[in-house]
Amino acid sequence: MQTIEQLRAALAQVVCPVCFGTLRLEPVSVHCTSCSRRYPLEDGIPVLLAARAQEANTEPD
Ligand SMILES: [Zn+2]
Repeated sequence: MQTIEQLRAALAQVVCPVCFGTLRLEPVSVHCTSCSRRYPLEDGIPVLLAARAQEANTEPD
């Protein structure tokens, strides 16, 4: 069973797959502090795939 503390420690070892920025664990997602993308948490496991990321600004120009 993975605890929040273990997850937080694991996230400290990895970076955003898009911009290599720092990741921050949030209640329902993982937030990149650099590019503001959000990665989903599925059953408590971060899905750090660029294809699954939600971009901060999804509005088309
Ligand atoms: Zn990023």
